[in-house]
Amino acid sequence: MTSPAIEHAIEHWSNGARYAGTSGRSADVTNPATGRVSGQVALASREDAEAVIAAAAAAAEDWGQTSLARRTQVLFAFRELLNSRRGELAEIITAEHGKVLSDALGEIARGQEVVEFACGISHLLKGGHSESVSSGVDVHSKRDPLGVVGIISPFNFPAMVPMWFFPIAIAAGNTVVLKPSEKDPSASLWLAELWKEAGLPDGVFNVLQGDKEAVDALLESPVVQAISFVGSTPIAEYVYERASQHGKRVQALGGAKNHMVVLPDADLDLAADSAVNAGFGSAGERCMAISVLVAVGPIGDELVARVADRARRIVTGDGGPDATSGAGTEADMGPLVTGAHRDKVAGFVDAGERQGAKVVLDGRGVAARGADGGFWLGPTLFDNVTPEMDIYREEIFGPVLSVVRVDTYDEAVALVNANQYGNGTAVFTNDGGAARRFEADVNVGMIGVNVPVPVPVAYYSFGGWKRSLLGDTHAHGTEGVHFFTRGKVVTTRWIDPHNRPHGGLELGFPQNV
Ligand code: NAD
Repeated sequence: MTSPAIEHAIEHWSNGARYAGTSGRSADVTNPATGRVSGQVALASREDAEAVIAAAAAAAEDWGQTSLARRTQVLFAFRELLNSRRGELAEIITAEHGKVLSDALGEIARGQEVVEFACGISHLLKGGHSESVSSGVDVHSKRDPLGVVGIISPFNFPAMVPMWFFPIAIAAGNTVVLKPSEKDPSASLWLAELWKEAGLPDGVFNVLQGDKEAVDALLESPVVQAISFVGSTPIAEYVYERASQHGKRVQALGGAKNHMVVLPDADLDLAADSAVNAGFGSAGERCMAISVLVAVGPIGDELVARVADRARRIVTGDGGPDATSGAGTEADMGPLVTGAHRDKVAGFVDAGERQGAKVVLDGRGVAARGADGGFWLGPTLFDNVTPEMDIYREEIFGPVLSVVRVDTYDEAVALVNANQYGNGTAVFTNDGGAARRFEADVNVGMIGVNVPVPVPVAYYSFGGWKRSLLGDTHAHGTEGVHFFTRGKVVTTRWIDPHNRPHGGLELGFPQNV
């Protein structure tokens, strides 16, 4: 239901300016810490989407031919602006997503890393050159931009996930249409304005607000050449299939169920701190959150006790410094993104209890430091979880940590490998040999050794295995550069009058000349 009192309209961004669109459709955006509607986001019709895609297409040729020096200057200017004004963006993220401000700043820092990586695009786009591959013949390779590319992003990282892609796409000479999550759409508009201030020509970076209708328009557009998607696995599968059917290259990153395996020789304080940080940071709404803690051997009781002790001390509340309570400092953990999501996660907690897991810490009914209408759920810890329970099988995407106890290393690895997802995993141990074996044994894309959230730095690539990623190209790093460019190999012969002029008529393939 749209509230008439709300005037804050969150529009599209097309050709360097806000664009209201013509659909007449919109959705409420809420502040999760208060439950109050803070704005209405436009939901694009197909016509709106086509208008925004056309703006990107109109800018594509000029931008693709703009010199590397000029493109790089814009990237550096964007980086400087982002770095100096990141506090504004963090506040926008906290107000619509709910994560605490320090975490919002962390998300921006990880996105900024990709901007910095893309500042070096000149080096990354260098091709190869081979002289005299045959008499008088040279070969060189180059990488061209694709044209218009689409990015479809989830609610949980409204700045970082788009920044996994657009700095590289733009630096490589493409124009972009970003379709952010309709739950927290304002960060993308702020980023669009920053690009304009940095000197990016109009039409190179565009934002299309909306839901499935906007997504389908991007997937089916004959103009859009590639789709980078991040979100839940069922939608990732849909996007991968639909965009592929329409001839696009696609990378579609999906959901996760990340296991942290604690071996008997691990430092249990480090393991407990790490499990709590990775399980409850951002209220568990991270694709690299730890949601399953696998205790190997006799350490189960001690590990659960140490985790519970820490989790009990977490303050759940408003993510901003001016908490409703007037405490003046941010809480440790914010609310969930929407009331519906909070209820869904609470439903999983009910199911866990019903199906026989031991509730060590119950986040339902938490006394949060914030407004009554906030979408609160406190840290929840389950022990004695087994693989057939719903809380083990499903991605919960909330502050719910499940402890599974196993007797051996082999059982732990079998558990990790049997899971439908393969985004991230971690092993905690002081045994280098065991860690090395773990790295080889697990079928997972990103692995931490005594590091619970092993998100790769920007110059490596981010991506999971199995149902956590469809397509074969991971995000950012050199794989990102590859994704946003198309290779060409040029074979050249210049007639040299001092050498043999040319081979004359010869209908067969040349042989060792
Ligand atoms: P989501 O799948 O609901 O939405 C993602 C995007 O798809 C949004 O832009 C949304 O508007 C659009 N969308 C939603 N339903 C659609 C439909 N029926 N047809 C077409 N488009 C649709 O995901 P979310 O709830 O915003 O984000 C949380 C999910 O994202 C979790 O599953 C999480 O694991 C995943 N995620 C994965 C990674 C990763 O790197 N693998 C990173 C972040 C988040």
